[in-house]
Amino acid sequence: MTDFSRTKKMFHLPENMIYLDGNSLGPLPLNALNRLEKTVRDEWGELLIKGWNEANWFSMPTTIGDRIAKMLGAPPSSVIIGDTLSIKVYQALASAIDLAYERDAERKVILSDTGNFPTDLYMANGLINTIDRNLELTLAEPDEILHHLDESIAVLMLTQIDYRTGRMHDMEKITRLAHEKGIVTVWDLAHSAGAVPIDLSTTKADFAVGCTYKYLNGGPGSPAFIYVAPKHIENTNPALSGWLGHDAPFDFDLEYKAGPAIERMRVGTPPILQCAVLDVALDIWDGVDIEDVRSKSIELSELFIRLIEQQCPQMTLASPRDPKIRGSQVSFSFPDGYAAMRAVIDQGVIGDFRAPDIMRFALTPLFIDESDVTKAAKIISETVKSGLWKQAKYQSRNAVT
Ligand SMILES: *Cc1c(COP(=O)(O)O)cnc(C)c1O
Repeated sequence: MTDFSRTKKMFHLPENMIYLDGNSLGPLPLNALNRLEKTVRDEWGELLIKGWNEANWFSMPTTIGDRIAKMLGAPPSSVIIGDTLSIKVYQALASAIDLAYERDAERKVILSDTGNFPTDLYMANGLINTIDRNLELTLAEPDEILHHLDESIAVLMLTQIDYRTGRMHDMEKITRLAHEKGIVTVWDLAHSAGAVPIDLSTTKADFAVGCTYKYLNGGPGSPAFIYVAPKHIENTNPALSGWLGHDAPFDFDLEYKAGPAIERMRVGTPPILQCAVLDVALDIWDGVDIEDVRSKSIELSELFIRLIEQQCPQMTLASPRDPKIRGSQVSFSFPDGYAAMRAVIDQGVIGDFRAPDIMRFALTPLFIDESDVTKAAKIISETVKSGLWKQAKYQSRNAVT
């Protein structure tokens, strides 16, 4: 059984703050400070350019990718990190479209759902316009996806866990049914990696992507990851054919030749300081069983829902009630959700707001326990009921909600 009191001590958690926002930005791992100092002072400072070889900077995207692969039930050399998730969505979808086109050039539909995160849809539309092959993006309601899987669909691109409500798709089942219709699948695991058990090999997803600054605690702007099923990788032509994805970048060939395996999904220079922080953030997971994280997260979520519903009936559960189809977050609707969340944050409980009326809270067992949940539920309920949020200062929107 994972010892969560041990993992909690591995983070810096500010005093007088209960942090229920680990699904947006994980907290600072204490070891990150030492590692960052070492990377900056000893490596960048002393080694300078030699760091690429002598401090193994160059191989960080693959070595860290392999650590993430292991957490996601994927084989070595099938995951690599770099860039932002938006970029990785573009890369994965471009490759999926190519693969689908080779199999059946007549299929024109990229299917996603209305629960997807907007950047995934924006990137899909940008890509569709760029390649100009009469493709179209079609959106279904999340619970209707299975009815839309037919022979007109080239690629199915879904985010497993809805960023607003936490509703979770059955990845294994949807992938299987999509494959039966010859559809290529792209899964976004932004709210899944580090939150729920994932087994990419068993699920047989074709492509998967996700970010590392949410449940994996890699810090603001830490690089995203991309997975390509090993059986596809040799046929995958990178749409973003950057020099570091080349087979021999330092030959400076004028012609692009894709690198071996997942290396070809590299684009340009990786952010080494962020990679170093992510590497120590992943150390925390070494003694952690994701099945324990999942069962603890369900326990904490059930407790949180029960307490909020008892203490504050004005808030309406917006997440699925069945924990089996809910990720590691719980959302409530409240008409003045934005102002209410600002007031709750001022009382020391950090959640966030998602339009139009969602107050969102993440239950992250690595650093949140029962006592935090009990205290937070009380503060949230009292703040909402008191009407404190009606004050003028809580009404104007910040740039980031
Ligand atoms: C958080 C999130 C993103 C963020 O993309 P960035 O490029 O890292 O800003 C994208 N997609 C989903 C589904 C997300 O949850």
